Amino acid sequence: MVLKLTDATLRRPAPNELTAFDAIVVGAGFAGAVIARELAERGDKRVALIERRPHIAGNTYDHPDERGVLIHAYGPHIFHSAFERVYTYLSRFTEWRHYEHEVLADIHGTLIPVPFNLNSIAASFDAEKAQALTELLLERYGQGSKVPIIELRKADDALVRELAEYVYENVFLHYTEKQWDLTPEEIDPAVTARVPVLVDWDNRYFQDAYQGMPAVSYKSLFEQLLDHENIKVFVNLDALELLDFVEGETPDAPFDAVRLAGTPFEGLIIYTGALDELASRRFGLLPYRSLDFVYRNYDQSRVQAAATINFTVSQAYTRTSEYTWLTGQDIGASSVAEEYPRAYTDPCAQTPYYPIINDENLAFYARYQVLFAGLDNFYPLGRLAEYHYYNIDQIVLRSLEMADELIGN
Ligand code: FAD
Ligand code: UDP
Repeated sequence: MVLKLTDATLRRPAPNELTAFDAIVVGAGFAGAVIARELAERGDKRVALIERRPHIAGNTYDHPDERGVLIHAYGPHIFHSAFERVYTYLSRFTEWRHYEHEVLADIHGTLIPVPFNLNSIAASFDAEKAQALTELLLERYGQGSKVPIIELRKADDALVRELAEYVYENVFLHYTEKQWDLTPEEIDPAVTARVPVLVDWDNRYFQDAYQGMPAVSYKSLFEQLLDHENIKVFVNLDALELLDFVEGETPDAPFDAVRLAGTPFEGLIIYTGALDELASRRFGLLPYRSLDFVYRNYDQSRVQAAATINFTVSQAYTRTSEYTWLTGQDIGASSVAEEYPRAYTDPCAQTPYYPIINDENLAFYARYQVLFAGLDNFYPLGRLAEYHYYNIDQIVLRSLEMADELIGN
């Protein structure tokens, strides 16, 4: 049996119905769905999972478009992980399609592999120079090493620095400015280090041991994940309508208690939305980056040279992703999504996709975090609530580990 969004799921709960649950989980993305399952199954708790969108699966939600092409509504999502625990856990709820992601950068019309690697060197320089650079990188760093661009620019060797400047200018600078409206120096170094220079001939975007796509869809994975007798899912329901907090002595002071539908609630609350929303944005809007997606439809199964093309020196969009590469669909139709980064200024109309990690924003987030820190039954979890640039596998592991703590191993 799998979870279906039936009338029961879609109906609004009566306020006193919610207070009868042992745990309220807000948000049906990976963070919320995994912890809901764990609390329900391992913890034997009755869990209400509340989601404001009309669907489950959070930002990984996928669905067929009007021509039957399976697209990801909130941007392309590829599963990859080094964590055996995460892969084994998710494998309970899905089979996998073998898939290893590859990305090409379009540099003035020439396509080169990203992460920038030894094949990218061969495609970017004349044979003699490419050989000299390749030998130098292998000697200095060793095959298989990953060097963040910010580190490579500080290399002792002048030839390595020259390469670093080329990569910085052609791969990182303009893409990062589009994506973040910041230079690579203004954003946390860990952000650009996600895509390091790779001293290898390996063209894959990720080197993790476990990689793939859910064999059917992310939506179907979530239907299995949430199919448990102790879990009740309510979609189209915003937790802002249900939760309020007993204020501390000053607007900066920790809240004294949380209420559910106006009633004191002592069960668990796991919250995976943005914290500033819960505190009426009293310190201002927490900075995130948003995206707009523009879809181009084609009457053939594949049009791009790779699943994703990063436009690192041109175009207003950062990248284009063709979903048929990810899903393997071959129905004589294709859909390519262009991603346009945007400032996040209108919470009513926009989605907060990326926390913008730097010292200033982390300090700003910490002011909101303090408000909730004194509540012993309220747990922020997830990419929004923790203001953390999590991948899928990282947030699944975090949710499993939070469940370990809450339930006891
Ligand atoms: P979300 O998926 O955002 O879920 C949070 C849910 O909470 C949402 O459904 C939201 O509607 C709901 N919610 C919020 N507030 C409320 C409220 N007040 N009441 C009720 N519901 C509420 N990771 C990878 O590993 N591989 C990838 O290829 C990859 N690609 C990505 C591409 C893009 C464009 C983006 C933005 C992210 C990508 N990620 C990828 C990261 C991945 O999306 C996140 O790691 C993951 O979705 C985090 O899960 P979450 O549950 O924390 O957040
Ligand atoms: N990046 C870049 N050029 C690229 C790929 C990545 O400048 O061709 C930088 C950019 O700052 C980006 C970050 O590296 O935001 C992380 O890239 P990743 O592909 O991991 O981003 P995500 O898939 O999370 O959007």
